[in-house]
Amino acid sequence: MTEFTESEERLALRREVARLASKYGREWFTEKARSGEKTTELWLEIGRHGYLGINIPEEYGGGGGGIGDIAAVCEELAAQGCPLLLMVVSPAICGTIISRYGTAEQKQRWLPGICDGTATMAFAITEPDAGTNTHNISTTARRDGDGWVLNGRKIFISGVDEAENVLVVARTEDTRTGKVKPVLFVVPTDADGFEYRRIPMEIVSPELQFQVFIDDVRLPADTLVGDEDGGLVQLFAGLNPERIMAASFSTGLARYALDRATTYAKERVVFQGPIGAHQAVAHPLAQSKIEVELARLMTQKAAALYDAGDDTGAGEAANMAKYAAAEAACDAADRAVQAHGGNGITQEYGMAGLLVATRAGRIAPVSREMILNYVAMHSLGLPRSY
Ligand SMILES: Cc1cc2nc3c(=O)[nH]c(=O)nc-3n(C[C@H](O)[C@H](O)[C@H](O)COP(=O)(O)OP(=O)(O)OC[C@H]3O[C@@H](n4cnc5c(N)ncnc54)[C@H](O)[C@@H]3O)c2cc1C
Repeated sequence: MTEFTESEERLALRREVARLASKYGREWFTEKARSGEKTTELWLEIGRHGYLGINIPEEYGGGGGGIGDIAAVCEELAAQGCPLLLMVVSPAICGTIISRYGTAEQKQRWLPGICDGTATMAFAITEPDAGTNTHNISTTARRDGDGWVLNGRKIFISGVDEAENVLVVARTEDTRTGKVKPVLFVVPTDADGFEYRRIPMEIVSPELQFQVFIDDVRLPADTLVGDEDGGLVQLFAGLNPERIMAASFSTGLARYALDRATTYAKERVVFQGPIGAHQAVAHPLAQSKIEVELARLMTQKAAALYDAGDDTGAGEAANMAKYAAAEAACDAADRAVQAHGGNGITQEYGMAGLLVATRAGRIAPVSREMILNYVAMHSLGLPRSY
């Protein structure tokens, strides 16, 4: 391995995941989405192979690897047309937070199911009124005897219908100072007072988004993850993995779009020679190839820094990677649709669905504007704008 390439072991992991996902493929994935079915088969198969919990410590059923490994899995699945959004949430955000801050008993309780895919965990921070301003969330945890009572509303929460639990970000009020602190709870999706309603989205995906209603949900004390006073740090522990995974999700989708476009451009003939011989078709695809490779490089850098324990360095790189990957993916999808002509917007070719799927990457899990705010402030030293 040189400083600029991944290890042979990582590359082998990529090949194995790509081979596994190619058995399923895009057609299978979109068929599941359109018929309202789930991709559980694929989810459980990657779990059985140890890829789902590859970043989680071995003693809890994981592979003992890093974020770089699970990001590679996420990217290769998407590159085969099978993007699994819940990989960002369950093993990467929830798995990381619980591995780092859960008690031994909590790790034993939740991590093995996250690793083998039998107990997926969703993640809920976004609220209808707070939106991007997550410091403004109003879901509240109130002490009740030995336990807690939770009340609030969440929105755009992915995969609640497939999850056994949701890691919910709430807040408590410090009785001494009155200061509001974020706290994290693992809430079973079948708890009394926990309800969810599907939000119809224009994304062709079996993984869905939900509004969540939390009304007087009673939770035992041992569902609080981490220290009641350490909320923000604990929450941030999941954010770098989240951005690195989101970047990998985007670069994987971009690679899939480009693959399809180049295959088509080599075969489709309307004047003399294939359309790919026209620079007007070839250059935008070449441009995307460069942009995607640059985004992949930054994503790998972010993962390497994170896995080396440099959280601050990883923060800047992860934000930049997520931004670059989302932009590259949107452009790659758009150019791939264009290269297909009219076929680009038929259901048969299934390319147009990539426009919305990649577009979501500019909004979630953190919007491009908030990344630009971060870079302006942290990397350039400009005044805080929000
Ligand atoms: C497909 C999908 C899946 C999701 N899954 C989850 C999930 O599993 N769990 C979860 O908790 N959330 C999830 N989300 C929510 C996602 O994280 C939010 O949509 C996102 O953070 C933006 O919040 P918002 O939609 O409320 O936009 P708003 O906060 O209303 O923002 C609207 C626009 O204004 C811009 N804006 C706001 N403030 C500023 C500012 N200070 N400077 C510049 N621009 C600004 C934003 O960038 C955005 O473009 C998901 C969203 C989508 C689309």
